[in-house]
Amino acid sequence: MFEFKIIKKDKKTKIRAGVFTTPHGIIKTPMYVPVGTQASVKALTPNDLKEIGVQIFFSNTYHLHLRPGEKLINKFGGLGKFMGWNGPTMTDSGGYQIFSLGDRLEEKNPERTKLIKITNDGVKFWSHLDGSTHFFSPEDSIRIQHDLGADLIVAFDECLSYFLTEKEVEKVLPRIHNWEKRSLDYHKKHSKGKQFLYGVIQGAAFKRLRKISTDYITSLDFDGIAIGGVANAGESKKAIYDVINWVIPDLPEEKPRHLLGVGEVDDIFEIIERGIDTFDCVIPTRLGRTGFIFVSPKEGNLKNRFRIDIQKAKWASSKLPLDQNCNCYVCQNFTRAYVHHLFRTRELLAYRLASYHNVYFVINLSKKIRESILKDKFNVMKKEWLV
Ligand SMILES: [Zn+2]
Repeated sequence: MFEFKIIKKDKKTKIRAGVFTTPHGIIKTPMYVPVGTQASVKALTPNDLKEIGVQIFFSNTYHLHLRPGEKLINKFGGLGKFMGWNGPTMTDSGGYQIFSLGDRLEEKNPERTKLIKITNDGVKFWSHLDGSTHFFSPEDSIRIQHDLGADLIVAFDECLSYFLTEKEVEKVLPRIHNWEKRSLDYHKKHSKGKQFLYGVIQGAAFKRLRKISTDYITSLDFDGIAIGGVANAGESKKAIYDVINWVIPDLPEEKPRHLLGVGEVDDIFEIIERGIDTFDCVIPTRLGRTGFIFVSPKEGNLKNRFRIDIQKAKWASSKLPLDQNCNCYVCQNFTRAYVHHLFRTRELLAYRLASYHNVYFVINLSKKIRESILKDKFNVMKKEWLV
């Protein structure tokens, strides 16, 4: 049902290209996984996703559990059927949202910190929607993910703040590992082979703890390996790349690797070069909705972070497409002036066109990088982009 095959490996770097077969279709890796938090990649239909070339998308267990509930989605045949998407899907464990929406990341805010309570058994939290009380144990998270029915699912863990000290992280790491082991045990007992479970390597920004976590997670029989807790590294890209550098050499070659929550243009080159197969990120859609449009070289570069602000007055009468090198539906049919106008008048179409282009841009970039790997031209491509 699941098969991950590496079809090309670089001798000097950790870079690799693969084919990941799932019950709902094939993912050609490395590949970007767009995020559809509420069972919807905001403003885009499943038909758009197909047209764009999306191979798999990512949804959030925390949100779907609160609304509409996993039981209801299960009655409709699972996440894909519920939303009219017949390709592969992935869900997270809910842990990230419980901890980030519970604002534990801001330890200094005592009011918000009260929104979650952790015991060895699991996490009690208050819904960010209506304040109702909920409890997630590792077993609950996996049971909910089984009901949601995504192809790829993730073990329950705790999202650690980068403000924590090494001692503090060391203290909670055994609990996280225990939760992941319990996730795996529950999954093995109940999954019926229909879903593929990722273990998550944690340890914040500490090399020693990342190594401990890597040793433990790889000693268990997870199907795939995810690296978590790097999206909290804030603006420090070095911190993200360091973590991947520490972890990757000790991972088994044959298991697919997912990086949780990273995906700016330069990151995509750097993480793929370090051996990541798939990565999810909200940036393309989130930026799109605020009028930031991805552009390729020469216009796009490290300095402008490969984006233009379409709401700026200078685009009001521009006849250019959003990106001059993009073949997407939006770039073939609309001008910057028109999209600028849609944003200025707050027309709903603005969000749709911007999201369409931005998701296409990152999917297409992933595909091109994959082609460059297959042709031994990754370094040439990377130089063209990240000059
Ligand atoms: Zn485009």
